[in-house]
Amino acid sequence: MSTLTTTRIREHALKLGMTHLPDSISELVARAEADQMGYLDFLDLLLGEELGIREGRRFRNALRLSGLPHHKTLQEFDFTFQPDLEPRKVRDLATLEFVERHANVALLGPPGVGKTHLASALAVAACQAGYSVYFTSLDDMVRKLKIAEATGRFNRQLATYLRPAVLVVDEVGYLPLDRAEANMVFQLVSRRYERGSMIITSNKSFAEWGQVLDDDVLATAILDRLLHHCDVLAINGPSYRLKDRVAIIPGGDPMP
Ligand code: ADP
Ligand code: MG
Repeated sequence: MSTLTTTRIREHALKLGMTHLPDSISELVARAEADQMGYLDFLDLLLGEELGIREGRRFRNALRLSGLPHHKTLQEFDFTFQPDLEPRKVRDLATLEFVERHANVALLGPPGVGKTHLASALAVAACQAGYSVYFTSLDDMVRKLKIAEATGRFNRQLATYLRPAVLVVDEVGYLPLDRAEANMVFQLVSRRYERGSMIITSNKSFAEWGQVLDDDVLATAILDRLLHHCDVLAINGPSYRLKDRVAIIPGGDPMP
């Protein structure tokens, strides 16, 4: 290929926003020659490579902005440790059909059973599939909404939690809320209802949400919207955090 042509291709690629092609053109041409590729296959390779790089970059950026505490995946989740949790149910969720339907997922159970791990894994999968994702703990969200309200920026802050296709709200129920705070949660849940998915984790059963939210009527109104389209996974097995420390728990079997 003449230098003139290569230079022109590089210029055109940049103008078209194909930032990877200028660096990879020689290698792609060499590969096409080695494999005696047809014109269509070569075009397919070239566009596929460019898109792959772009998606990878988008994925990394989106993950960085998502606020996820870690990027653990379903592959890293040991289902044998939670025999009551059906792997099939979790894998069905990982198809992200619930995101398409604007439905919710609730992961319930005591500390250490992998609620945040699974919520993050679903969020990473959604991010990879091109959905926007945002992760927050309930307490952090409420704290930020309160600060925003005090400074006249409530709606703008609320929009941060309304915009993403998937909002993960972690740790509902660890700290009780007062009524004004619960009202903010209601506004969030009712405005996301049937518009975007939420993945909620909680150590409390739904029956206990009235106490957490300091108001049974408000709790019912929130749960009504949250649970209308919702897959609920209750994980009631042992804590993974304590799996090697059973000996220190009263009544726990000492490890061999
Ligand atoms: P929870 O949110 O329910 O309190 P986490 O998801 O934070 O629990 O899990 C605690 C730790 O144990 C995390 O590091 C998580 O990755 C790990 N973990 C929990 N369950 C499993 C599991 N079944 N397989 C592998 N790692 C797990
Ligand atoms: Mg957690």
